Amino acid sequence: MDAEVFDEFPSPADELAGRTIAVIGYGNQGHAQAQNLRDSGCEVLVGNRDDEFRAAAQDAGFEVVTIEDAARRAQIMLLLIPDEVQPEVFRDQIAPGLQDGDTIVVASGYNVHFGLLDIADTVDIVMVAPRMIGEGVRDHYERRESVPCLVSVEHDASGRARGTALAVASGIGVLRGAVSSSVREEVALDLFSEQAIWPSIMAIFQAGYDVLANAGFSDDAILDELYLSGEPAEILGRVSRVGMIGQLGLHSKTSQYGQLTNLLRSGAFTDQMRERFAGVLNDQILSGAFSQDWSGSDTEPDADARIAALRKKAEATSLSVAERAVLDRWS
Ligand code: NDP
Repeated sequence: MDAEVFDEFPSPADELAGRTIAVIGYGNQGHAQAQNLRDSGCEVLVGNRDDEFRAAAQDAGFEVVTIEDAARRAQIMLLLIPDEVQPEVFRDQIAPGLQDGDTIVVASGYNVHFGLLDIADTVDIVMVAPRMIGEGVRDHYERRESVPCLVSVEHDASGRARGTALAVASGIGVLRGAVSSSVREEVALDLFSEQAIWPSIMAIFQAGYDVLANAGFSDDAILDELYLSGEPAEILGRVSRVGMIGQLGLHSKTSQYGQLTNLLRSGAFTDQMRERFAGVLNDQILSGAFSQDWSGSDTEPDADARIAALRKKAEATSLSVAERAVLDRWS
């Protein structure tokens, strides 16, 4: 299914004239988007707590106010604080200052899709979700290279939400090729990648390590071959430019023959993964079960404690133990 792709954008300075943009949070995305929007001719202020991020915004020449003041003064709010704190900050510090016709801009679909922000019907909701880290958003802007981005209009109370979304996208450095999407699609793809693809890649390395270690090969040689040499990063870099099969030409003929014969023989394994991945997508992500588990309970210990407990278990696996020992030996 092909998506609509936006290649033409209104001028941010014209489309957003007379409206103040509040960048809420001057972190990874916030520092980049605030500077890009300012350099694009928009009126930008920063809302941040009183700490080192506030000082960084002040050093960059921004007027920095409390989040409450930013929400009262601005007409367009970019929510650029971590997803897990947005519901509470929104409820207590942003919602009371919103006016009819204001716009909430999210950079991730999570909280809007799962209904974790209680946004009044009179407020526009759009998503401008760059597909790169904040440093990349700033670097691309400075080099006049287009920032890859998903854009959507989720609620258009004012009748001008689409123009606002495209102008904000342009202001943060999207020059062409913004993909029309939705918070549902953004969150599904993002969580799927995190919950289906990457854990499976880690599990494949784990299984590979166990088989090779049981066969008596050394941890140093195994882990060097599997990933500590950095070869997979180089291969993935090439994949991003010429595709999975396209990059095979870089490998020896022996390697290509071995990779292709085994790829074409892996139908049963792929079928098993398809079934497992469909479960992750439907039963875990789209059903809301993951969001309920992660964001739905006030009785769970805080996010850092939950992650620390899981990390402790992951660090006890045979691969993790071997990896630490090898990295220590090599350092
Ligand atoms: P960061 O973790 O970099 O956000 C840090 C900012 O949030 C700081 O200004 C920090 O201020 C503030 N903050 C943190 N906790 C609180 C709190 N409890 N109350 C008030 N302010 C708080 O966020 P990101 O830039 O990574 O993410 C922002 C949004 O962008 C998210 O929706 C994310 O999903 C999305 N996104 C992120 C990408 C990325 O590469 N990181 C890529 C694309 C989208 P303080 O100093 O006060 O803690």
